[in-house]
Amino acid sequence: MPVRFVPDEKDEAVARAELLLMLRKRGIRDTRILRAFEQVPRDLFVTADFHDLAWADQALPIACGQTISQPAVVATATVALDLAPGHSVLEIGAGSGYQAAILGHLAGRVVAVERFRTLARAAAERMKKLGLSNVEVLVADGSNGYPARGPYDRILISAAIEEVPPALFDQLLPGGVLVAPVGPHDGTQMLTRFERTPEGIVRRDLLPVRFVPLLPGVASVL
Ligand code: SAH
Repeated sequence: MPVRFVPDEKDEAVARAELLLMLRKRGIRDTRILRAFEQVPRDLFVTADFHDLAWADQALPIACGQTISQPAVVATATVALDLAPGHSVLEIGAGSGYQAAILGHLAGRVVAVERFRTLARAAAERMKKLGLSNVEVLVADGSNGYPARGPYDRILISAAIEEVPPALFDQLLPGGVLVAPVGPHDGTQMLTRFERTPEGIVRRDLLPVRFVPLLPGVASVL
């Protein structure tokens, strides 16, 4: 008889522990960050088809042709943001809401914008389910940030961008940090950290990545 893989609670506990081990192996020691990854149930953010891979360190497809980022990449971006409990954070490209939920555990307030209404609604539902009342998911084009809720201590662009528009740096408080995958839409981008210092913007390369592109406007197909 063929054996079918049915994930049960024990498998999930093992997969969750493996994810945390992977983060430790990558040098992540900050207990607040590790705890955030432990507390955000990634299986809640993926479709039923991918439940058995929910805790694996890989990007997975979500609705609207988009993807939930790989946990290792979410972790690198999160570490680079250097978050404090009082921070106000903007995420551009909420997608499933997974990264926004991680940010919600580490910052004071998170505004996550998404151009697909379907994704934004589902992400907002997940925040509600998880009791993350400090994370607000909005349907909006974040190409030029979201000045209405700014300025921000931290900005994370979760979609590939060829160049960071100056309008985004304008929404960053002095001493603020912006992280974004910078590079061509159809290739590899460099996850890049920008810090607003008194001497100007200080730029540091973090990790080669592949993100879906940042597209202009709110999606017409919702
Ligand atoms: N952070 C997400 C993954 C992001 S995928 C997660 O944890 O699941 C990138 C997302 O950016 C996609 O959902 C895409 O629809 C969205 N996006 C692309 N261009 C955008 C724009 N101009 N404004 C807002 N969201 C955008």
